[in-house]
Amino acid sequence: MKHFYTVFFSFLLSVSFTIGAMAQGILQQGGGPAPSISQKAPCISPEERVAEWDRLQIQRQRLIAEGKLSSPQGRTSQNIQFRIPLKQSINSPYTGYYGITNYVDHDGSSGLEDYICEEVTYDGHRGTDYATWPFPWEMMDNNDVEVVAAAKGVIIEKRDGNFDQSCDWNNKPWNAVYVEHADGSVAWYGHLKKNTLTAKAIGDTVYPGDFLGYIGSSGISTGPHLHFELFDTDGSMLDPYIGTCNPTSSISRWENQDPHKTPSVIHHQTGNRAPDYGNFCYGQEASNEANVFDPGDVIYLSIYMRDYVTSTSSTLKLISPDGFIYDSWSNTPSQFYPLSYWWWSYQTNNSFPQGMWRFDLEYDGKTYSYPFQLGMATSNDLKDELEINIGPNPVRDFVNIEGLENLRLSYEMLDIQGRLLQEGLLENNRIDMTSFAEGLYLLRIRNLENGQSLVTKVVRK
Ligand SMILES: [Zn+2]
Repeated sequence: MKHFYTVFFSFLLSVSFTIGAMAQGILQQGGGPAPSISQKAPCISPEERVAEWDRLQIQRQRLIAEGKLSSPQGRTSQNIQFRIPLKQSINSPYTGYYGITNYVDHDGSSGLEDYICEEVTYDGHRGTDYATWPFPWEMMDNNDVEVVAAAKGVIIEKRDGNFDQSCDWNNKPWNAVYVEHADGSVAWYGHLKKNTLTAKAIGDTVYPGDFLGYIGSSGISTGPHLHFELFDTDGSMLDPYIGTCNPTSSISRWENQDPHKTPSVIHHQTGNRAPDYGNFCYGQEASNEANVFDPGDVIYLSIYMRDYVTSTSSTLKLISPDGFIYDSWSNTPSQFYPLSYWWWSYQTNNSFPQGMWRFDLEYDGKTYSYPFQLGMATSNDLKDELEINIGPNPVRDFVNIEGLENLRLSYEMLDIQGRLLQEGLLENNRIDMTSFAEGLYLLRIRNLENGQSLVTKVVRK
């Protein structure tokens, strides 16, 4: 019966907000496209591409002579198929991590035409750009995204040691790995992070999914991304996507070709300020993520989307500790954005119930929850007072806590709805998580001497 009332009341609340006092606490809103993709500069200059290709020919001849690479006569006539050349590392905390910001441009004039005759490209682009999101520079610093081999092949060249923090047009060289496949096609993996390239040598074989380097922003680059460029057996440009406007291939070269657009959630969060990208150069990005607030604080709620299309919308909900929809609003993009972010500042006050709240994002039939703590002003006292390190995060089997010497402490592990799953005294400075499923949890640690506590998120992978 209780369940029935909860559902019924939630329904009434959401309806009343839709009609009248919708999004009652919103002060300001903002956002827009990922700054990295507002600029359109070639990933490699035409002159440099020709020079690079000439250098690769010399390298190929040498490798063929050494028996490390098939001669043209020894190549397979079967077309090689590719896999996505990126992989999210296990420590990356985000729901998604990249979007495709530019496909190959097939329009020979100044117009734009990608493989399905749309304009997700820039003039003269000859590869596919995979840009990381939501915080590309932080993700680059943290090695969140690996560039991996899209197919089996032989490394025919590597470039490394070049500056990797480009954020606008320059003529600096990039860091890259070049791989030739059994059919003679060649893949270029460009803009890699300095000094992170695979230890495999030129002439070595890589297999699909093998690590090649980390995402970076070396060369002519407006922000961290991978430029993936393919050359067919005869050295001509190859766009691996099948589509009516792609004359370079009559079949898809992907094992499983992804749709042209993948509308999906990359991340959402609460913060103490709006996310700030500065002018999108290294060191200027600030996520401003925070998840402990006091009543009366302004909370910044933000979402980070891939392929946000105008036929879709997001529903944002603030769920109070007792499970009610406290407020709700929706967001629809006014145009298509390959990568974008949107934020709202929200005024809380003393009448807000204190406890564990949720910021829910509903999109494409799925609900994503982000927990935050409102009130219990002591909730972060412990963090202020002590240097405590909680790790690793994500967790595999045990949470280790350092810096708690001589304190009597208890812990509570909660789910993201704030329900208590496990509690106990903290012994041996560790918490066993082997019985927990993969997912997001909240860990509260309490000092039994004075009642001070802290709350932190823990991810089990
Ligand atoms: Zn590119």
